[in-house]
Amino acid sequence: MPAPYQSPDYYQLDELLTDEQRMARDTVRDWVGERVLPVIARHYQACTFPSDLIPEMAQLGLFGTTLPERYGCAAMDHVSSGLVMQELERGDSALRSFASVQSSLVMFPIHAYGSEEQKDRWLPLLAKGAAVGCFGLTEPDAGSDPGSMKTRAARRGDGWVLNGAKMWITNGTVADVAVVWARTDEGIRGFLVEKGTPGFSAPEMKGKLSLRASVTSELVFEDCAVPESSRLPLALGLRAPLSCLNQARYGIAWGAVGAASACYDEALRYARERIMFDGPIARFQLVQDKLVWMLSEITKAQLLVWRLGALKDAGKLKHTQVSLAKMNCVWMARECARMARDIEGANGILDEYCAMRHMQNLESVYTYEGTHDVHKLVVGADITGFEAFRAPVKPTSSN
Ligand SMILES: Cc1cc2nc3c(=O)[nH]c(=O)nc-3n(C[C@H](O)[C@H](O)[C@H](O)COP(=O)(O)OP(=O)(O)OC[C@H]3O[C@@H](n4cnc5c(N)ncnc54)[C@H](O)[C@@H]3O)c2cc1C
Repeated sequence: MPAPYQSPDYYQLDELLTDEQRMARDTVRDWVGERVLPVIARHYQACTFPSDLIPEMAQLGLFGTTLPERYGCAAMDHVSSGLVMQELERGDSALRSFASVQSSLVMFPIHAYGSEEQKDRWLPLLAKGAAVGCFGLTEPDAGSDPGSMKTRAARRGDGWVLNGAKMWITNGTVADVAVVWARTDEGIRGFLVEKGTPGFSAPEMKGKLSLRASVTSELVFEDCAVPESSRLPLALGLRAPLSCLNQARYGIAWGAVGAASACYDEALRYARERIMFDGPIARFQLVQDKLVWMLSEITKAQLLVWRLGALKDAGKLKHTQVSLAKMNCVWMARECARMARDIEGANGILDEYCAMRHMQNLESVYTYEGTHDVHKLVVGADITGFEAFRAPVKPTSSN
């Protein structure tokens, strides 16, 4: 019987949490240990999401965690919600991605920008896991620059007609409702497009070597007619989808700490038990160097996300602070996963260990919801006052 997971807490950060926050964290931690870890490697290998866990996630209040109870949500504070994401990603980034999309990218925009009818219809269903949602912003030719999207919504009679394609959409194939962002004559607008709407299809993308336990899809719109009542009435311009991404990135920063902690715990255990040159490899300075680096970066990241949560709960959080956290925490987790895999030697490439799975997942997490470098530019622009997103397109004369 393997020893139970020991989350790194070198600076007694547990003491910073309230009883409720600890309870939310421990409940999800236990659930991940009992229900996710025994099956996740199989799902990862088979490229399937463990969809039988969706009702259990709903039961635990993991969808729309911070939204009001009147919609069936848990109305948690933001630190609790972050801790939930941390524990989910300790299991696998696919679980955290599922919860992030459902909560931050589907329920949040419906709550923030939807009509009362849209909220009353969709939020209780999404909270119960009786409906799954997805968020369609990225396109084949519009990734880091979503403002260049080509998907169009044109007015026809009392409604709208959508044409275009989205790509890399988490949960697209399984979603009952897609939050779709499209260009209109009045600017970018958001629409709720239901599964089965004529002219709408969502084929699954195959061949991923990362986030294999998550469903990723294209969304295709060919003269797809939707009523005016499907438009999110308060979502005006690109700021609306960007505000959703900001919510999700907050959870990603916390989630990355969970993935890193899983890798550190596994590598530390392994180093103590693996005998080479007549004793445990943990006695070698070079191995200790890696373990101490991991612990040190995890501890800094734990403090960072805790403060991020406190600022969010106080209503003082700036989106640039979220960018810095997403950038730092995911980079840190990616490095930890690589070091853990290294410490575990050849065994580290096996799916019975978590390090390689996290390492591969974190490649996606490093890129999605704003790439590492794009967040660097966001923070760079904030501190210098100069935006560096656009460089001259014309080559210099020497080229
Ligand atoms: C598994 C997975 C799930 C996803 N789920 C969703 C989803 O549910 N919904 C959704 O809408 N999208 C989703 N995405 C898409 C994701 O958000 C995009 O991949 C991301 O925004 C980056 O876009 P891109 O892949 O087109 O990269 P590009 O924008 O083409 O970037 C390529 C490289 O160029 C760099 N670069 C780009 N612009 C600049 C610049 N100005 N300065 C310096 N460097 C730059 C980037 O940092 C990167 O290194 C998902 C992606 C993955 C991998």
